[in-house]
Amino acid sequence: IEEREKFRIEYWELEEAKLRRMPPPEPLAARIALVTGAGSGIGRAIAHRLVAAGACVVVADLDAGKAAEAAEELGGPDKAVAVTVDVTSEEQITGAFREALLAFGGVDLVVNNAGISISKPLLETSAKDWDLQHDIMARGSFLVSREAARVMIAQGGGGDIVYVASKNSVFAGPNNIAYSATKADQAHQVRLLAAELGEYGIRVNGVNPDGVVRGSGIFAGGWGAQRAAVYGVEEAELGEFYARRTLLKREVLPEHVANAVFALTGGELTHTTGLHIPVDAGVAAAFLR
Ligand code: NAD
Repeated sequence: IEEREKFRIEYWELEEAKLRRMPPPEPLAARIALVTGAGSGIGRAIAHRLVAAGACVVVADLDAGKAAEAAEELGGPDKAVAVTVDVTSEEQITGAFREALLAFGGVDLVVNNAGISISKPLLETSAKDWDLQHDIMARGSFLVSREAARVMIAQGGGGDIVYVASKNSVFAGPNNIAYSATKADQAHQVRLLAAELGEYGIRVNGVNPDGVVRGSGIFAGGWGAQRAAVYGVEEAELGEFYARRTLLKREVLPEHVANAVFALTGGELTHTTGLHIPVDAGVAAAFLR
């Protein structure tokens, strides 16, 4: 209790923030959002979806340039602010939440989206690879969620935490032990935090995308070439290849993942927590390949 009180005081000492805080309007329960990795790809699409629904967004990304560009694209300071943050740093995470409080007066929704993909076969995966992957995605999302919970509890409870996990959190794919293990870790964080934070009215859910090739920095950064080699297709055809193996025969794009995040947090699913929604055009339902 003492610890909680300490955080409550610390956060509410930001008088300016306190004054500017407004109750979340209905039906959009999550009005002020902090999205990690929102400078690019899926995170940026999520930020767009939330802003389109009336939310304000803190674009929290390691890449300052991309974060600033995204914030500008989202409508500037009234709608979005850019914060440079490395999710491996506790200090920087606390700083990002402070920025959110100062800019918009609170945080109602936090999306754990930041990530990298070290995609190698087991025998080529070093301890350093494993640690880096886990630092950013398993440990990083844990730290961000812990800070989110502190702020949301200090605000009096309520709020949403969403993890952009992956189909790989459930299913094994070739040559990405480090990446997939962190996604499985994130999936269990969803259940563990849903169990622990339910009493504060904080809901914790996840989305499990698969095959988001176009618009994804992760694919552009070498993973695409590696995946294309694994599946025996040209890299340029990877999106189409992924689409063909889905039940719906459709390519999954960043905005489809963003729609799932909105579905979870837009105000309708008030009694849903601990859930993962697949955004894979049906791949996980009938694993075809
Ligand atoms: P992306 O590379 O376009 O976006 C990732 C963002 O995270 C980048 O802006 C990057 O700067 C940021 N980032 C990286 N390390 C960071 C750190 N330490 N601190 C803060 N920010 C950091 O890739 P994306 O495809 O949009 O991936 C977003 C999320 O979606 C990731 O968690 C990824 O694992 C997940 N995902 C992607 C796919 C897919 O098919 N693309 C599938 C399943 C899950």
